Amino acid sequence: MYEMVVGLEVHAQLQTKAKVFAPEAVTFGERPNRYVSVVSLGYPGTLPVLNRACVEAAVRLGLALGCEIATEFYFSRKNYFYPDLPKGYQITQEAAPIARKGEVWVRLPEGTRHRVGIERLQLEEDTGKSLHDQDPFDTLLDFNRAGIGLVEIVSEPDIRTPQQAMAYLAHIRRLVRFLGICDGNMEEGSLRCDANISLRKQGDSSFGTRVEIKNLNSISALGKALEYEFARQVELIERGEKVLRETRTWDGMRTVPLREKETADDYRYFPEPDLPPVRLPASHIHELAASLPQLPDALFEEMVTVQGLSIDEATLLTEDRPYAEYFLALIRLKVAPKVAASWINGAIRAYLNAQAVAMEAFPLPPQRLAELISMVENRQISLTAAREEIFPLLVAEPEREPMDIAREKDLLLLQDSHQMDTWIAEVLAENPEKVETYRRGKTGLLGYFVGQVVRRSGGKADPREVQRRIAEKLA
Ligand code: ADP
Ligand code: MG
Repeated sequence: MYEMVVGLEVHAQLQTKAKVFAPEAVTFGERPNRYVSVVSLGYPGTLPVLNRACVEAAVRLGLALGCEIATEFYFSRKNYFYPDLPKGYQITQEAAPIARKGEVWVRLPEGTRHRVGIERLQLEEDTGKSLHDQDPFDTLLDFNRAGIGLVEIVSEPDIRTPQQAMAYLAHIRRLVRFLGICDGNMEEGSLRCDANISLRKQGDSSFGTRVEIKNLNSISALGKALEYEFARQVELIERGEKVLRETRTWDGMRTVPLREKETADDYRYFPEPDLPPVRLPASHIHELAASLPQLPDALFEEMVTVQGLSIDEATLLTEDRPYAEYFLALIRLKVAPKVAASWINGAIRAYLNAQAVAMEAFPLPPQRLAELISMVENRQISLTAAREEIFPLLVAEPEREPMDIAREKDLLLLQDSHQMDTWIAEVLAENPEKVETYRRGKTGLLGYFVGQVVRRSGGKADPREVQRRIAEKLA
Protein backbone atom coordinates (compact mmCIF):
# COMPACT_ATOMS: atom_id res chain seq x y z
CA MET A 1 0.00 0.00 0.00
CA TYR A 2 1.22 3.47 -0.88
CA GLU A 3 0.59 6.74 0.84
CA MET A 4 0.84 10.19 -0.64
CA VAL A 5 3.18 12.81 0.77
CA VAL A 6 2.08 16.32 -0.05
CA GLY A 7 3.44 19.80 0.62
CA LEU A 8 1.66 22.91 -0.62
CA GLU A 9 2.94 26.26 -1.79
CA VAL A 10 0.20 28.86 -1.49
CA HIS A 11 0.49 32.36 -2.93
CA ALA A 12 -1.74 35.11 -1.62
CA GLN A 13 -1.87 38.41 -3.48
CA LEU A 14 -1.72 41.30 -1.04
CA GLN A 15 -4.58 43.77 -1.26
CA THR A 16 -2.48 46.76 -0.38
CA LYS A 17 -3.03 50.14 -2.06
CA ALA A 18 0.29 50.11 -3.86
CA LYS A 19 2.52 47.34 -5.21
CA VAL A 20 5.27 45.88 -3.06
CA PHE A 21 8.26 47.73 -4.55
CA ALA A 22 6.58 50.23 -6.87
CA PRO A 23 4.05 53.03 -6.41
CA GLU A 24 1.26 52.07 -8.81
CA ALA A 25 -2.12 50.83 -7.62
CA VAL A 26 -3.01 47.19 -7.04
CA THR A 27 -5.94 46.43 -9.35
CA PHE A 28 -7.80 43.55 -10.91
CA GLY A 29 -9.67 43.38 -14.21
CA GLU A 30 -8.63 46.88 -15.34
CA ARG A 31 -7.59 47.79 -18.87
CA PRO A 32 -4.25 46.06 -19.50
CA ASN A 33 -1.01 47.93 -18.85
CA ARG A 34 -2.57 50.95 -17.19
CA TYR A 35 -1.04 50.38 -13.79
CA VAL A 36 2.57 49.96 -14.75
CA SER A 37 5.50 52.13 -13.68
CA VAL A 38 9.08 52.27 -14.84
CA VAL A 39 10.05 50.54 -11.60
CA SER A 40 7.92 47.48 -12.34
CA LEU A 41 9.28 47.41 -15.89
CA GLY A 42 12.83 47.49 -14.56
CA TYR A 43 13.98 50.58 -16.45
CA PRO A 44 17.62 51.42 -15.91
CA GLY A 45 18.14 53.92 -13.12
CA THR A 46 14.98 53.03 -11.24
CA LEU A 47 15.05 51.61 -7.74
CA PRO A 48 12.53 49.54 -5.80
CA VAL A 49 11.20 50.87 -2.50
CA LEU A 50 9.71 48.42 -0.02
CA ASN A 51 6.03 48.97 0.84
CA ARG A 52 5.65 48.84 4.60
CA ALA A 53 2.01 47.72 4.35
CA CYS A 54 3.13 44.54 2.56
CA VAL A 55 5.63 43.72 5.29
CA GLU A 56 2.96 44.25 7.93
CA ALA A 57 0.49 42.03 6.09
CA ALA A 58 3.09 39.27 5.80
CA VAL A 59 3.99 39.55 9.47
CA ARG A 60 0.34 39.43 10.53
CA LEU A 61 -0.20 36.30 8.47
CA GLY A 62 3.03 34.80 9.83
CA LEU A 63 1.82 35.44 13.37
CA ALA A 64 -1.60 33.95 12.60
CA LEU A 65 0.22 30.84 11.35
CA GLY A 66 2.19 30.59 14.58
CA CYS A 67 5.50 31.38 12.86
CA GLU A 68 8.67 32.81 14.27
CA ILE A 69 9.02 36.29 12.77
CA ALA A 70 12.49 37.39 11.71
CA THR A 71 13.69 40.61 13.27
CA GLU A 72 16.02 40.95 10.32
CA PHE A 73 15.48 39.72 6.79
CA TYR A 74 16.46 40.55 3.25
CA PHE A 75 15.34 40.04 -0.33
CA SER A 76 16.95 37.98 -3.07
CA ARG A 77 16.94 38.09 -6.82
CA LYS A 78 15.65 35.05 -8.62
CA ASN A 79 16.92 35.31 -12.19
CA TYR A 80 15.09 33.74 -15.10
CA PHE A 81 13.79 34.69 -18.49
CA TYR A 82 10.09 34.70 -19.17
CA PRO A 83 7.98 37.15 -21.17
CA ASP A 84 5.77 38.06 -18.20
CA LEU A 85 8.83 39.06 -16.17
CA PRO A 86 9.98 42.38 -17.61
CA LYS A 87 12.98 42.86 -15.33
CA GLY A 88 14.44 39.44 -16.05
CA TYR A 89 14.37 38.65 -12.35
CA GLN A 90 11.88 38.44 -9.52
CA ILE A 91 12.52 40.05 -6.17
CA THR A 92 11.74 37.33 -3.66
CA GLN A 93 13.19 35.82 -0.52
CA GLU A 94 15.40 32.81 -0.30
CA ALA A 95 17.81 32.40 2.60
CA ALA A 96 16.18 34.93 4.94
CA PRO A 97 12.37 34.86 4.75
CA ILE A 98 10.11 37.02 6.94
CA ALA A 99 8.71 34.08 8.87
CA ARG A 100 9.39 30.39 9.50
CA LYS A 101 8.45 27.39 11.56
CA GLY A 102 4.74 27.77 12.04
CA GLU A 103 2.00 25.22 12.24
CA VAL A 104 -1.70 24.89 11.68
CA TRP A 105 -4.16 22.31 12.91
CA VAL A 106 -6.58 21.84 10.06
CA ARG A 107 -10.11 20.72 10.75
CA LEU A 108 -11.27 17.65 8.86
CA PRO A 109 -14.87 16.95 7.88
CA GLU A 110 -15.12 14.06 10.37
CA GLY A 111 -14.31 16.47 13.19
CA THR A 112 -10.68 15.52 13.84
CA ARG A 113 -7.67 17.80 13.42
CA HIS A 114 -4.41 17.28 11.59
CA ARG A 115 -1.17 19.17 12.09
CA VAL A 116 0.58 20.74 9.12
CA GLY A 117 3.89 22.46 9.73
CA ILE A 118 4.70 25.74 7.98
CA GLU A 119 8.24 25.75 6.69
CA ARG A 120 8.44 29.38 5.65
CA LEU A 121 6.54 32.46 4.66
CA GLN A 122 8.12 34.87 2.27
CA LEU A 123 7.33 38.18 0.63
CA GLU A 124 7.84 38.59 -3.09
CA GLU A 125 6.47 40.29 -6.19
CA ASP A 126 3.98 38.92 -8.69
CA THR A 127 4.70 38.59 -12.40
CA GLY A 128 2.72 40.03 -15.29
CA LYS A 129 0.13 37.95 -17.07
CA SER A 130 0.32 36.33 -20.50
CA LEU A 131 -2.99 36.62 -22.36
CA HIS A 132 -3.37 33.75 -24.78
CA ASP A 133 -6.95 34.35 -25.81
CA GLN A 134 -7.00 38.04 -26.82
CA ASP A 135 -5.36 37.78 -30.21
CA PRO A 136 -5.64 35.00 -32.80
CA PHE A 137 -1.90 34.92 -33.54
CA ASP A 138 0.05 36.35 -30.65
CA THR A 139 0.27 36.07 -26.92
CA LEU A 140 -0.24 39.49 -25.36
CA LEU A 141 1.17 40.74 -22.08
CA ASP A 142 -0.52 42.62 -19.28
CA PHE A 143 1.80 44.08 -16.66
CA ASN A 144 -0.86 45.47 -14.31
CA ARG A 145 -0.16 42.48 -12.08
CA ALA A 146 3.64 42.78 -12.28
CA GLY A 147 5.00 43.87 -8.93
CA ILE A 148 1.90 43.27 -6.81
CA GLY A 149 2.94 41.96 -3.40
CA LEU A 150 2.61 38.22 -2.80
CA VAL A 151 3.17 36.14 0.25
CA GLU A 152 4.20 32.59 -0.38
CA ILE A 153 3.36 30.11 2.35
CA VAL A 154 5.33 26.89 2.06
CA SER A 155 4.07 23.94 4.08
CA GLU A 156 6.09 21.03 5.36
CA PRO A 157 5.34 17.78 3.53
CA ASP A 158 2.92 16.83 6.33
CA ILE A 159 -0.20 16.25 4.26
CA ARG A 160 -1.26 12.65 3.59
CA THR A 161 -4.70 12.78 1.98
CA PRO A 162 -6.56 15.00 -0.50
CA GLN A 163 -9.02 15.85 2.31
CA GLN A 164 -6.19 17.16 4.48
CA ALA A 165 -4.84 19.19 1.56
CA MET A 166 -8.24 20.74 0.87
CA ALA A 167 -8.78 21.50 4.55
CA TYR A 168 -5.34 23.13 4.71
CA LEU A 169 -6.07 25.34 1.71
CA ALA A 170 -9.48 26.27 3.13
CA HIS A 171 -7.75 27.13 6.41
CA ILE A 172 -5.29 29.48 4.68
CA ARG A 173 -8.05 31.08 2.65
CA ARG A 174 -10.09 31.73 5.78
CA LEU A 175 -7.07 33.26 7.50
CA VAL A 176 -6.14 35.67 4.73
CA ARG A 177 -9.77 36.75 4.49
CA PHE A 178 -10.09 37.28 8.22
CA LEU A 179 -6.89 39.28 8.28
CA GLY A 180 -8.16 41.33 5.36
CA ILE A 181 -4.90 40.89 3.45
CA CYS A 182 -6.30 39.02 0.43
CA ASP A 183 -9.80 38.30 -0.86
CA GLY A 184 -8.92 34.62 -1.28
CA ASN A 185 -10.52 34.48 -4.72
CA MET A 186 -9.01 31.45 -6.45
CA GLU A 187 -10.82 31.88 -9.78
CA GLU A 188 -9.38 35.35 -10.19
CA GLY A 189 -6.00 34.11 -9.05
CA SER A 190 -5.60 36.27 -5.97
CA LEU A 191 -5.04 33.02 -4.09
CA ARG A 192 -3.04 30.31 -5.88
CA CYS A 193 -1.83 26.91 -4.91
CA ASP A 194 0.84 24.55 -6.22
CA ALA A 195 0.93 21.03 -4.86
CA ASN A 196 4.03 18.88 -4.46
CA ILE A 197 3.26 15.21 -4.30
CA SER A 198 5.31 12.06 -3.96
CA LEU A 199 4.57 8.48 -3.01
CA ARG A 200 6.02 6.06 -0.57
CA LYS A 201 5.19 2.64 0.81
CA GLN A 202 3.19 2.96 3.99
CA GLY A 203 5.63 2.77 6.89
CA ASP A 204 8.64 4.06 4.91
CA SER A 205 10.41 7.00 6.49
CA SER A 206 12.10 8.42 3.40
CA PHE A 207 10.34 10.41 0.69
CA GLY A 208 9.96 9.60 -2.98
CA THR A 209 10.53 11.86 -5.97
CA ARG A 210 8.06 14.72 -6.00
CA VAL A 211 6.05 16.17 -8.82
CA GLU A 212 4.82 19.74 -8.62
CA ILE A 213 1.29 20.42 -9.90
CA LYS A 214 0.43 23.96 -10.95
CA ASN A 215 -2.79 25.76 -11.93
CA LEU A 216 -5.02 24.46 -9.20
CA ASN A 217 -7.67 27.14 -9.27
CA SER A 218 -10.08 25.84 -6.69
CA ILE A 219 -10.08 23.77 -3.55
CA SER A 220 -11.88 20.94 -5.29
CA ALA A 221 -9.40 21.04 -8.19
CA LEU A 222 -6.64 20.50 -5.62
CA GLY A 223 -8.40 17.41 -4.28
CA LYS A 224 -9.06 15.96 -7.72
CA ALA A 225 -5.54 16.65 -8.99
CA LEU A 226 -4.00 14.86 -5.99
CA GLU A 227 -6.28 11.83 -6.48
CA TYR A 228 -5.36 11.68 -10.14
CA GLU A 229 -1.63 12.19 -9.61
CA PHE A 230 -1.54 9.61 -6.82
CA ALA A 231 -3.11 7.00 -9.11
CA ARG A 232 -0.72 7.94 -11.93
CA GLN A 233 2.36 7.57 -9.73
CA VAL A 234 1.13 4.27 -8.27
CA GLU A 235 0.74 2.93 -11.80
CA LEU A 236 4.24 4.06 -12.80
CA ILE A 237 5.83 2.45 -9.78
CA GLU A 238 3.86 -0.77 -10.17
CA ARG A 239 5.07 -0.98 -13.78
CA GLY A 240 8.61 -0.65 -12.46
CA GLU A 241 9.05 2.83 -13.94
CA LYS A 242 10.43 5.91 -12.21
CA VAL A 243 8.51 9.03 -11.22
CA LEU A 244 10.21 11.98 -12.93
CA ARG A 245 10.95 15.13 -10.97
CA GLU A 246 8.85 17.46 -13.07
CA THR A 247 6.30 20.23 -13.06
CA ARG A 248 2.84 19.26 -14.29
CA THR A 249 -0.33 21.18 -14.77
CA TRP A 250 -3.94 20.28 -13.96
CA ASP A 251 -6.18 20.62 -16.99
CA GLY A 252 -9.38 19.82 -15.14
CA MET A 253 -9.25 16.11 -15.99
CA ARG A 254 -5.66 15.00 -15.63
CA THR A 255 -2.16 16.24 -14.85
CA VAL A 256 0.00 16.83 -17.90
CA PRO A 257 3.73 17.61 -18.07
CA LEU A 258 4.66 21.30 -18.18
CA ARG A 259 8.42 21.20 -17.91
CA GLU A 260 11.19 19.36 -16.18
CA LYS A 261 12.05 21.10 -12.96
CA GLU A 262 14.91 23.55 -13.08
CA THR A 263 17.30 23.06 -10.21
CA ALA A 264 17.54 25.89 -7.71
CA ASP A 265 21.01 26.81 -9.01
CA ASP A 266 19.62 27.84 -12.36
CA TYR A 267 18.01 30.86 -10.76
CA ARG A 268 21.35 32.27 -9.59
CA TYR A 269 19.86 33.68 -6.43
CA PHE A 270 21.80 36.50 -4.85
CA PRO A 271 20.88 39.15 -2.26
CA GLU A 272 18.97 41.99 -3.94
CA PRO A 273 21.52 44.80 -4.22
CA ASP A 274 18.89 47.54 -4.67
CA LEU A 275 17.19 46.94 -1.32
CA PRO A 276 18.82 47.19 2.09
CA PRO A 277 18.18 44.41 4.64
CA VAL A 278 15.11 45.11 6.74
CA ARG A 279 15.18 45.40 10.53
CA LEU A 280 11.92 44.75 12.27
CA PRO A 281 12.03 45.81 15.93
CA ALA A 282 10.48 43.26 18.29
CA SER A 283 8.23 46.04 19.60
CA HIS A 284 6.75 46.48 16.13
CA ILE A 285 6.10 42.73 15.89
CA HIS A 286 4.33 42.86 19.27
CA GLU A 287 2.17 45.74 18.08
CA LEU A 288 1.16 43.79 15.01
CA ALA A 289 0.41 40.73 17.15
CA ALA A 290 -1.80 42.84 19.38
CA SER A 291 -3.68 44.19 16.36
CA LEU A 292 -4.72 40.76 15.09
CA PRO A 293 -8.47 40.20 15.03
CA GLN A 294 -9.96 37.16 16.71
CA LEU A 295 -8.93 34.34 14.38
CA PRO A 296 -11.43 32.00 12.76
CA ASP A 297 -10.29 28.94 14.72
CA ALA A 298 -10.83 30.66 18.05
CA LEU A 299 -14.18 31.99 16.87
CA PHE A 300 -15.18 28.52 15.71
CA GLU A 301 -14.34 27.00 19.08
CA GLU A 302 -16.30 29.70 20.85
CA MET A 303 -19.31 29.29 18.60
CA VAL A 304 -19.41 25.54 19.19
CA THR A 305 -18.51 25.31 22.88
CA VAL A 306 -19.90 28.54 24.31
CA GLN A 307 -22.72 29.44 21.95
CA GLY A 308 -23.82 25.88 21.29
CA LEU A 309 -23.81 26.02 17.49
CA SER A 310 -23.38 22.85 15.44
CA ILE A 311 -20.11 22.24 13.61
CA ASP A 312 -21.81 22.95 10.28
CA GLU A 313 -23.29 26.23 11.49
CA ALA A 314 -19.98 27.42 12.94
CA THR A 315 -18.07 26.35 9.82
CA LEU A 316 -20.33 28.45 7.61
CA LEU A 317 -20.14 31.45 9.91
CA THR A 318 -16.34 31.42 10.08
CA GLU A 319 -15.86 31.04 6.33
CA ASP A 320 -15.40 34.78 6.00
CA ARG A 321 -15.15 37.61 8.46
CA PRO A 322 -18.30 39.55 7.53
CA TYR A 323 -20.47 36.55 8.42
CA ALA A 324 -18.77 36.14 11.78
CA GLU A 325 -19.04 39.85 12.46
CA TYR A 326 -22.71 39.95 11.64
CA PHE A 327 -23.26 36.96 13.90
CA LEU A 328 -21.37 38.59 16.77
CA ALA A 329 -23.31 41.81 16.26
CA LEU A 330 -26.62 39.93 16.52
CA ILE A 331 -25.42 38.17 19.66
CA ARG A 332 -24.52 41.52 21.20
CA LEU A 333 -28.06 42.64 20.41
CA LYS A 334 -29.27 39.74 22.55
CA VAL A 335 -30.38 37.48 19.72
CA ALA A 336 -30.08 33.81 20.72
CA PRO A 337 -27.02 32.26 18.98
CA LYS A 338 -28.99 29.46 17.31
CA VAL A 339 -31.54 31.94 16.01
CA ALA A 340 -28.82 34.29 14.73
CA ALA A 341 -27.03 31.40 12.98
CA SER A 342 -30.19 30.20 11.30
CA TRP A 343 -31.03 33.67 9.97
CA ILE A 344 -27.55 34.23 8.58
CA ASN A 345 -27.06 30.76 7.13
CA GLY A 346 -30.67 30.64 5.91
CA ALA A 347 -32.46 33.78 4.80
CA ILE A 348 -29.38 36.00 4.44
CA ARG A 349 -27.37 33.48 2.44
CA ALA A 350 -30.33 32.75 0.21
CA TYR A 351 -30.65 36.47 -0.47
CA LEU A 352 -26.91 36.90 -1.15
CA ASN A 353 -26.88 33.93 -3.52
CA ALA A 354 -29.97 35.06 -5.38
CA GLN A 355 -28.67 38.62 -5.79
CA ALA A 356 -25.01 37.64 -6.28
CA VAL A 357 -24.09 40.04 -3.51
CA ALA A 358 -21.18 39.59 -1.07
CA MET A 359 -21.84 39.61 2.67
CA GLU A 360 -19.81 42.83 2.98
CA ALA A 361 -22.46 44.52 0.89
CA PHE A 362 -25.48 43.08 2.70
CA PRO A 363 -27.61 46.20 3.17
CA LEU A 364 -29.54 45.40 6.34
CA PRO A 365 -27.83 46.57 9.56
CA PRO A 366 -27.83 43.97 12.36
CA GLN A 367 -30.00 46.24 14.54
CA ARG A 368 -32.85 46.10 12.03
CA LEU A 369 -32.71 42.32 11.76
CA ALA A 370 -32.57 42.06 15.55
CA GLU A 371 -35.77 44.15 15.74
CA LEU A 372 -37.46 41.80 13.32
CA ILE A 373 -36.26 38.75 15.25
CA SER A 374 -37.53 40.20 18.52
CA MET A 375 -40.97 40.71 16.95
CA VAL A 376 -41.01 36.98 16.22
CA GLU A 377 -39.83 36.16 19.75
CA ASN A 378 -42.57 38.39 21.19
CA ARG A 379 -45.15 36.58 19.05
CA GLN A 380 -46.11 39.78 17.26
CA ILE A 381 -45.53 38.13 13.89
CA SER A 382 -44.99 34.56 12.79
CA LEU A 383 -41.55 33.34 11.78
CA THR A 384 -42.85 32.58 8.30
CA ALA A 385 -44.18 36.11 7.85
CA ALA A 386 -40.90 37.54 9.17
CA ARG A 387 -38.76 35.44 6.86
CA GLU A 388 -40.84 35.39 3.72
CA GLU A 389 -42.69 38.69 3.74
CA ILE A 390 -41.02 41.28 5.94
CA PHE A 391 -37.35 40.30 5.47
CA PRO A 392 -37.27 40.83 1.67
CA LEU A 393 -38.99 44.21 2.01
CA LEU A 394 -36.68 45.23 4.80
CA VAL A 395 -33.60 44.33 2.77
CA ALA A 396 -34.93 46.43 -0.09
CA GLU A 397 -35.59 49.38 2.23
CA PRO A 398 -33.33 48.96 5.27
CA GLU A 399 -34.27 52.34 6.72
CA ARG A 400 -37.86 51.23 7.33
CA GLU A 401 -39.13 49.98 10.68
CA PRO A 402 -40.04 46.28 10.59
CA MET A 403 -43.09 47.10 12.69
CA ASP A 404 -44.38 49.57 10.08
CA ILE A 405 -44.01 46.98 7.36
CA ALA A 406 -45.83 44.41 9.47
CA ARG A 407 -48.70 46.84 10.04
CA GLU A 408 -48.87 47.90 6.45
CA LYS A 409 -48.91 44.29 5.24
CA ASP A 410 -51.38 43.37 7.94
CA LEU A 411 -49.10 40.68 9.33
CA LEU A 412 -49.41 41.39 13.03
CA LEU A 413 -50.61 38.41 14.98
CA LEU A 414 -53.69 38.72 17.09
CA GLN A 415 -52.81 39.74 20.64
CA ASP A 416 -56.40 39.68 21.86
CA SER A 417 -56.64 36.49 23.94
CA HIS A 418 -60.30 37.00 24.65
CA GLN A 419 -61.11 36.96 20.93
CA MET A 420 -58.92 33.89 20.54
CA ASP A 421 -60.79 32.06 23.30
CA THR A 422 -64.11 32.91 21.68
CA TRP A 423 -63.02 31.34 18.40
CA ILE A 424 -61.67 28.30 20.22
CA ALA A 425 -64.95 27.87 22.07
CA GLU A 426 -66.88 28.16 18.79
CA VAL A 427 -64.74 25.57 17.03
CA LEU A 428 -64.95 23.11 19.92
CA ALA A 429 -68.70 23.59 20.19
CA GLU A 430 -69.17 22.87 16.48
CA ASN A 431 -67.22 19.61 16.70
CA PRO A 432 -68.52 17.67 19.69
CA GLU A 433 -67.70 14.19 18.27
CA LYS A 434 -64.11 15.21 17.42
CA VAL A 435 -63.70 16.60 20.93
CA GLU A 436 -64.89 13.26 22.29
CA THR A 437 -62.46 11.34 20.09
CA TYR A 438 -59.64 13.64 21.16
CA ARG A 439 -60.47 13.10 24.81
CA ARG A 440 -60.37 9.32 24.20
CA GLY A 441 -56.75 9.69 23.18
CA LYS A 442 -56.64 10.70 19.51
CA THR A 443 -54.49 13.72 20.26
CA GLY A 444 -53.56 14.07 16.60
CA LEU A 445 -56.81 15.97 16.23
CA LEU A 446 -55.24 18.96 17.95
CA GLY A 447 -53.84 20.09 14.61
CA TYR A 448 -57.32 20.05 13.13
CA PHE A 449 -58.72 22.30 15.85
CA VAL A 450 -55.76 24.69 15.55
CA GLY A 451 -56.29 24.88 11.80
CA GLN A 452 -59.97 25.71 12.24
CA VAL A 453 -59.24 28.49 14.71
CA VAL A 454 -56.46 30.00 12.62
CA ARG A 455 -58.73 29.95 9.58
CA ARG A 456 -61.48 31.64 11.54
CA SER A 457 -58.99 34.36 12.55
CA GLY A 458 -58.07 35.01 8.95
CA GLY A 459 -54.50 33.85 9.67
CA LYS A 460 -54.10 36.36 12.48
CA ALA A 461 -54.02 33.95 15.39
CA ASP A 462 -50.59 32.62 16.36
CA PRO A 463 -50.85 28.84 15.81
CA ARG A 464 -48.52 28.05 18.70
CA GLU A 465 -50.56 30.13 21.09
CA VAL A 466 -53.81 28.65 19.80
CA GLN A 467 -52.44 25.14 20.23
CA ARG A 468 -51.35 25.87 23.77
CA ARG A 469 -54.79 27.22 24.69
CA ILE A 470 -56.76 24.37 23.10
CA ALA A 471 -54.58 21.72 24.72
CA GLU A 472 -55.16 23.46 28.04
CA LYS A 473 -58.91 23.56 27.52
CA LEU A 474 -59.19 19.93 26.54
CA ALA A 475 -56.87 18.63 29.23
P1 ADP B 1 10.51 24.79 -4.95
O1 ADP B 1 11.28 26.03 -5.01
O2 ADP B 1 11.11 23.65 -5.63
O3 ADP B 1 9.08 24.99 -5.29
P2 ADP B 1 9.93 25.02 -2.19
O4 ADP B 1 10.89 24.88 -1.07
O5 ADP B 1 9.38 26.35 -2.51
O6 ADP B 1 10.58 24.34 -3.44
O7 ADP B 1 8.68 24.10 -1.90
C1 ADP B 1 8.83 22.77 -1.74
C2 ADP B 1 7.49 22.19 -1.36
O8 ADP B 1 7.51 20.80 -1.64
C3 ADP B 1 7.20 22.30 0.11
O9 ADP B 1 5.83 22.57 0.32
C4 ADP B 1 7.57 20.93 0.65
O10 ADP B 1 6.80 20.58 1.77
C5 ADP B 1 7.22 20.04 -0.50
N1 ADP B 1 8.02 18.83 -0.58
C6 ADP B 1 9.33 18.69 -0.43
N2 ADP B 1 9.71 17.41 -0.61
C7 ADP B 1 8.59 16.71 -0.93
C8 ADP B 1 8.32 15.35 -1.26
N3 ADP B 1 9.27 14.44 -1.33
N4 ADP B 1 7.05 15.02 -1.51
C9 ADP B 1 6.07 15.93 -1.47
N5 ADP B 1 6.27 17.20 -1.17
C10 ADP B 1 7.51 17.61 -0.90
MG1 MG C 1 8.62 27.35 -4.44
